[in-house]
Amino acid sequence: MNISIEELTKIYKNGNRAINNINLEIESGMLGLLGPNGAGKTTLMRILATLMRPSSGNVKVNGLDLQKNRAEIRAMLGFLPQDFGYFAKLRTWEFLDYSAALGGLRNTAERKRAVEEMLHKVGLYKFRDRFAKKLSGGMKRRLGIAQALIGNPKIVIVDEPTTGLDPEERIRFRNLLSDMSREEIIIILSTHIVGDISSTCRKMALLNKGELKFQGQPDELINTAKGHVFRIKAFETDLDKIKEKYPVISTIPSENGWDVEVVADKIDDYPADIIEPNLEHAYIYFMEFVLAQHVEIAEEEII
Ligand code: ADP
Repeated sequence: MNISIEELTKIYKNGNRAINNINLEIESGMLGLLGPNGAGKTTLMRILATLMRPSSGNVKVNGLDLQKNRAEIRAMLGFLPQDFGYFAKLRTWEFLDYSAALGGLRNTAERKRAVEEMLHKVGLYKFRDRFAKKLSGGMKRRLGIAQALIGNPKIVIVDEPTTGLDPEERIRFRNLLSDMSREEIIIILSTHIVGDISSTCRKMALLNKGELKFQGQPDELINTAKGHVFRIKAFETDLDKIKEKYPVISTIPSENGWDVEVVADKIDDYPADIIEPNLEHAYIYFMEFVLAQHVEIAEEEII
């Protein structure tokens, strides 16, 4: 599978440029689309899910044009929108059965088999007779992913699936997605939570203010932060000053005060050790330093 996005732009009626000239090649496997709120993730997801037309640019899915071949592309798609959670008065299995029928599974026996298999996969078989409305938040999300996955879609798009989930459900959800991630399908997972990406996605793309700022492997982003993550040994009295001066990632009590992890280009005012960055460090470093410097340069150029 391949999705090829070329010079894609979406300007809303009020003039908001939600995505700006995005070029991105997506291959089979799981892609994590990361960015802060307002970055343009939902807009991009909705365009890819054929629910919204772009203002300009092209998207090709295995060579098919997204605008001209909407029906064929829709037949390949499973979508879990951000605001998923409305259920008519249907039991859990009925809801999935209905989704499967909408997805084109016409044969009743086949559909029944597919629904049962999916209920097992997402751990909802025990709750199949419960009204979907009465499921817990985490279970509703699992039902959401089940309806997106039923009928073997070739492209699965999930928008902010872990928002509002407790840590246990979040891990469960991530594992479920990575189990589904097979070679021949594309899964696109959009999130503003770095942890959703680090454990599951081999490829990632970073959006900020409608622009694609990074694409590659999480490890490549991590490499950009090497040498820029520090652990400061701080006394209680230093904490406020440190927080003012540096982006702080964590503050952990230590024997004599606090171990404070920060990102910085260098630290010369406190005792500090360089530590190995993880993806969360790298994301913060990228947003606070790499992008901020680009913005400064761009502004100088304008002047
Ligand atoms: P994300 O999913 O990353 O939070 P969105 O795609 O929802 O980002 O939003 C990108 C930008 O587009 C934001 O500035 C948002 O305010 C704006 N936006 C989103 N939907 C609309 C809309 N229907 N009309 C006008 N502006 C919108």
